[in-house]
Amino acid sequence: MFASISGRSVIVTGGTRGIGKGIAKCFLRAGCNVLVTGRDESVGEAAVEELSSLGGEVLFLHADVSRKEDCHQMADYAIKQFGGIDVLCANAGIFPTSKLAEMSEDDLDRVMSVNFSGTVYSVIACKDALEKSGRGRVILTSSITGVVTGFPGWSHYGASKAAQLGFMRTAAMELAPSGVTVNAVLPGNIATEGLDGLGEGYLRQMTEAIPQGRLGDVEDIGNASLFFAADEAAYITGQALIIDGGQILPESMEALQEM
Ligand code: NAP
Repeated sequence: MFASISGRSVIVTGGTRGIGKGIAKCFLRAGCNVLVTGRDESVGEAAVEELSSLGGEVLFLHADVSRKEDCHQMADYAIKQFGGIDVLCANAGIFPTSKLAEMSEDDLDRVMSVNFSGTVYSVIACKDALEKSGRGRVILTSSITGVVTGFPGWSHYGASKAAQLGFMRTAAMELAPSGVTVNAVLPGNIATEGLDGLGEGYLRQMTEAIPQGRLGDVEDIGNASLFFAADEAAYITGQALIIDGGQILPESMEALQEM
C-alpha cells in the first residue's frame, strides 16, 4: 500500500472532461485538492459540481494552455487557493484530423500550440512551486499515437505527442536536483467525450483492435497518474508508461484473430 498523498495540491489542465476529469477524480478520492482548467466555463462549472463530493476540494479556472499568461494565472491561483503546487498533470489536448494533402498552417499551429507549447508553458509556470514542494511531480498525458503508432490524419497530432516526450527527458533532468519527477502516461483509446466525436465506426474499429476487447476508462489513466504521484515513485523520472489494454502488441490483424 502506498503512503497517503491526502492534502496535496494538484493541477489538471483539461480536467473538465474526458481523461482529465478521470485523473481529477482519482486525485480527489485520494484526498488531494484539485484545480481543473479548461476554456469552456459552463463545462468547467458542471465538472466541479460533479466532482465536489469525492474528497478534497475542487476548483475550476478558465485557462487556455496555449497562452503563456493563462498558465501563469493558473499556477498563481493554485498557489493562492491551496498554498502551493505538488502535482501538475499537463493533460489538455486536442486531436482534430487533417491528412497531409489538406493540412493548413493553421491546422498545424493549433495542434502544436495546445498539445506541445501548452505542455511546456504549464510546466514553466508551475516550476518554482513544484521545486518548493520537495515532492513535486509532473505527469504529461501523451499518447501511443506518434510515439509508437501512426494513424492517417494524425501526423501533426502524433508529432505533438512525441514532442511532449522529447521535452520530458530534458525537463526531467533540469528538475531532478529539486526532487521533481517528470513522467508521462501514454493512453491507447480511452472512452471520452473527445473520442466519441470520432464516430461509431472509429470506436468499433478500435475496440476490435484491442486484445482486452474494450476501450480504456478515464480512471485507467487516473490510476497510472496517481502511481507517478506517489512518494514511492520518487526515483522514477523521464519515463513513459503505455496504458492501452495491449493495443500496440499484435504484429498483424491475423495475430488478433489467433487469440
Ligand atoms: P476531451 O474529452 O476532448 O477533453 C479535452 C480537455 O482538454 C477538455 O477539458 C478541454 O476543455 C481541454 N482543452 C482543450 N483545449 C484546451 C486548451 N487550449 N486549453 C485548456 N484546456 C483545453 O479529450 P480527451 O480524450 O480526454 O484527451 C485528453 C488528453 O489525452 C489529450 O492530451 C489527448 O491527446 C490525450 N489522449 C487521449 C486519448 C483518448 O483515447 N481519449 C488517447 C491518447 C491520448 P475545453 O475544450 O473547455 O478547453
